[in-house]
This record gives sequence, C-alpha cells and structure tokens, in this order.
Amino acid sequence: MSREEIPLSSPDITEAEIQAVVSVLRSGRLSIGPRLEAFEAAVAQQAGRKYGVGVNSGTSGLHLCVKALGIGEGDEVITTPFSFVATTNCLLFERAKPVFVDIDPDSYNMDAAAVEAAITPRTKAILPVEIFGNPAHFDEYERIAKTRSLLLIEDCCEALGAVLNGRQAGNFGDCGVFAFYPNKQITTGEGGLIVTDSREIRDLCISMRNQGRATETDSKDDPRRSESSGWLSHPRLGYNYRMSELSAAVGEVQISRLSELLQKRRRAAQMYDDALADVEGVHLPPMIERDTAAWFVYVIRLADSFTQDDRDAIISSLRRSGIGCREYFVPIHTQPYITELLGTKAGDFPTTERVAARTIALPFFADLSPDQVRQVKEALLEALGR
Ligand SMILES: *Cc1c(COP(=O)(O)O)cnc(C)c1O
Repeated sequence: MSREEIPLSSPDITEAEIQAVVSVLRSGRLSIGPRLEAFEAAVAQQAGRKYGVGVNSGTSGLHLCVKALGIGEGDEVITTPFSFVATTNCLLFERAKPVFVDIDPDSYNMDAAAVEAAITPRTKAILPVEIFGNPAHFDEYERIAKTRSLLLIEDCCEALGAVLNGRQAGNFGDCGVFAFYPNKQITTGEGGLIVTDSREIRDLCISMRNQGRATETDSKDDPRRSESSGWLSHPRLGYNYRMSELSAAVGEVQISRLSELLQKRRRAAQMYDDALADVEGVHLPPMIERDTAAWFVYVIRLADSFTQDDRDAIISSLRRSGIGCREYFVPIHTQPYITELLGTKAGDFPTTERVAARTIALPFFADLSPDQVRQVKEALLEALGR
C-alpha cells in the first residue's frame, strides 16, 4: 500500500490535555475531586442546564437516568431502532419495554407522527437520539412528551454542541446524556455525563454512580444521620459508574476547545459535501442547520438501486484502498439478542432498514485534510465502478 491509511476516526488531543493529566497525577487526587466538578459544570453550562453528573460511560449515564426516572418493569418507552445498542440496552437493564418506531428518511431521527401513534396507556417515556448529531424533531418530541404527560430522556451522546432553533442538545426533556468515547465530538477516553435541571434527578444519579451512597438530600430526610457524611450509608442499590479525575481533566480541556473542534468538524463535512455533491447514487448526510451543526460522523447513503450486498462490497473495496469505513448502524430490532427478547424481526421498520442497508460512514475527524478527502472520493468512485 503506497498511500497512507485513513482511519475512520481520530481524537484531537493537544499538549494541554496531556499537561492536564500530568497535573492530576502529580496532585495525588485521582478520583472524586475538583476536575470532575469543573467538567460537570462546563458541560451543564454548554447544554443550558443547572446540573451535570459525570459517569464512566454514556451507557452508564443512560442507565442512571432510566433508574432516576423510575422507569422499570411493565413500562413502555418509545425509542428508535436506528441507533447504537446502548439506547435500547439501558431500558433492558431495568426490564422496561423498548417500543421501536420507524425513522423519518429525511433526518434519520424518529418520525414524530409515529412516536405519537405508538403511545399506549403503558407508555412512560420517550427516548430519542440525535442520530449522527442531527437535532431534527427534538422540539416535536418534547411537545408530545409534555402534552401526553410522558417523561423524556435525551440520548444526546452523538450531539454535544448541536443546536435546534437556538437550543442546545441536552436541553430537551427531563434529562440528557452525553458520551465521550474517542470518536465523539469531545473525548475523555471513556466517559459520559448526565445533564438536568432537576435537583432530584441529579442527587439520585450522584448517589447511584457511587454505590448508592447517601447524599445530602438523603441525610436531610433521615434525622439519625444529620451530622454524618453518610459515606458508609447506602439507602439504595447503586453502581460504580464514577468518572476518574484523569478523564475529567481531559474533558475539561476538550470542552474548553469545543467551538474550535466543532468548527474543524464542520470544515471536514463541508469538504465532503463539496467533493461528493456530484457523485451519482450517493446521498449526502441529512443535517439541519448545517452552518452551526455538531457533526459526529459523516455517513453517506447509497441510492435505493443499490442492495445491501452492493454496499458491503463497496465497504470492502474502500477498506482495501486503506479507507476506514463502516456500516452505521445495524438496526437494533434485527440484532440477534433483541429478536430473541422482543420478537422483533427484519421487515418491522422498513425505512430504518432501507436506510441502514445503504449507509457508509466515511473517515471523519477534526483534522481531516483536503488530500484525505480526495483519496476517499477516488476510492469511492473506484468502488462504485466509475
Ligand atoms: C456513543 C453512544 C452512546 C454511549 O456510548 P458509551 O460507549 O457507553 O459511552 C449511547 N448512545 C449513542 C447513540 C451513542 O452514539
């Protein structure tokens, strides 16, 4: 291979993040400390929320939100089959029932009319995802939740910095969850963060991320412990979902660079938009408010005349040319463990399946170069047989 391989994603880490980690190591305070509090405050502020609760992954954050909202066995939660499995798994952890609805082909987010139609007397919540960072329809989901008295958890794990009508991702509904795996807009290595305006949700999440330990709120309700810190008092079942100071320190620097990182990602997306606009049979990603968008990945979709096998052959060809790429996503309702558990099957959500069978995520990261975009286009044209 003469050309250098182009990865699917690549984190943008500077000397500042490295120094932040070194400082934490020198401080001796490696967990539950000031870096976490500062990072929580910064992310909450970004989302226009009162509180932030850092955890060790986006999945953990979603799980704690489900628990904090009291969603459990017998409750139906309307969600999208076109997402990463964590969106559904957090419901299964608590034996709640995911009720999938099909997506809108023009945004890849849940069709709002389909959400409304899926409501039953057992529906307790809506769990939408800004897929690929696209915040389309979130105002509609919020309106539906309000008028039908449903809870709303925003899986904004792909959408830090996304804006809909001037409102930030993470600002919709009862609570939202961001994630910081290395391919996200900002990274902490591994990590997640819950944002909310509710003191009650915040306190429950803080307690449950740390083995269900008592918080100030618990102590207030229990006169026996009014003086003690409650460190060894566990009023509820909890987990070890804590985020370390090392991760939080990286996150603090990363979020201070958010506008720079989003700007670089918009520039990368614009280069692809320009390069691929005239490639026949390729649909560009559906992103609203493109000038201010928070791109997570850049996912093209092949025209309906291509089959899933065609798409898979194109992915193989791109990989042979050293281009990192992937199908995004395999529909959740067709995953083996889901079909076994919920009885869903291929054919249930035709729009999701039609889109998912034809998507290709291209290499996408802040420092993508014009030359790399040219290489991707060349390899794509070759894979398409042109
Ligand atoms: C990244 C992501 C998550 C969380 O992933 P973790 O690996 O647990 O941090 C959840 N939902 C969606 C849609 C995601 O893209």
